[in-house]
Amino acid sequence: MSDLFADELGDEFALIDWIHQCSKTISAPGLSTGIGDDTAVFQSTAGAMLATVDTLVEGTHFTFESATPEQIGRKALAVNLSDIAAMAGTPTYALLSLTSPRTLDQNILKRVVSGLVELATEFNVALIGGDTNSTDGLFSISVTLLGMAPKSGAILRTGSQVGDAIMVTGAIGGSLPSGRHLNFSPRVAEAKAICTAANVHAMLDVSDGIASDIRHLLQSQKLGAIIDVDAIPIHADVPTELSTQERLQCALCDGEDFELLFTVDAKEADRLSRDETLSVNVTRIGTITDSGELLLRSGDSTSPINNTGWSHPIGD
Ligand code: ADP
Ligand code: MG
Repeated sequence: MSDLFADELGDEFALIDWIHQCSKTISAPGLSTGIGDDTAVFQSTAGAMLATVDTLVEGTHFTFESATPEQIGRKALAVNLSDIAAMAGTPTYALLSLTSPRTLDQNILKRVVSGLVELATEFNVALIGGDTNSTDGLFSISVTLLGMAPKSGAILRTGSQVGDAIMVTGAIGGSLPSGRHLNFSPRVAEAKAICTAANVHAMLDVSDGIASDIRHLLQSQKLGAIIDVDAIPIHADVPTELSTQERLQCALCDGEDFELLFTVDAKEADRLSRDETLSVNVTRIGTITDSGELLLRSGDSTSPINNTGWSHPIGD
């Protein structure tokens, strides 16, 4: 196994893919969507259910110097709520796993949990179990969240069609430096409202940044996309004193926005972006193409987008 790791698994996505291949032989009755989407989807007698898990690790995702204990607990649940939102689902039950350094003050731990419980209460999520461990290492918190898919079916990452409009909720960029990533409001209600207002073909939440996450809407179908530079709603948290290029870089690559990225028939895009019944702005930022390429367009010039930005000079 270690040889395989060394030779073939360059990054996180390759590792996940390898795990996916390994686990395919295990039977999974009732499973309709497994590894690869924002949540798993499986059938129960109550209807289609959703399941997701996310872990925050001290030093990697937060430090106790830069976040309050309540914010850490809140975010551990919020990132999972965002994945349920990305399926247009309703969150229901959570399990909480805590691994804390033996030296950590119990009061800090209680404050972490109270931050989580406050958000759980807001979103009607019941805490139904978990696990508590101590360690000589760093603090980590993991939340498993279950939910119900909408009756019409969960919105998957796959399903985009050539010519579809690519749309995003809210505004993007600057989430980490501003601290917005600790206080964001998961788009659970917004996702449902958008799916009621339009026929959404595919959806995910933006955690790594649009430049990286948009690939998940394309990969499985060999689709491409063109993103219009001037259409990108750059968040007010991105400093205005930065150059145009730097601001664009923040919007596309900062990540941790936890906004929804989704595709609809192009005919629906204008109406949706003017729909005042939605509690969040939605903006068309581009179009799905059949080129297999991911491009950024400014006027007449285009440049390939990669995970860290774009390849050639673009914009002014
Ligand atoms: P997200 O950013 O939406 O939380 P991730 O990028 O973390 O999604 O994961 C992508 C997909 O891979 C998800 O379907 C997730 O469930 C799956 N996944 C990630 N890590 C593992 C793992 N260690 N074992 C099995 N599946 C995994
Ligand atoms: Mg997600």
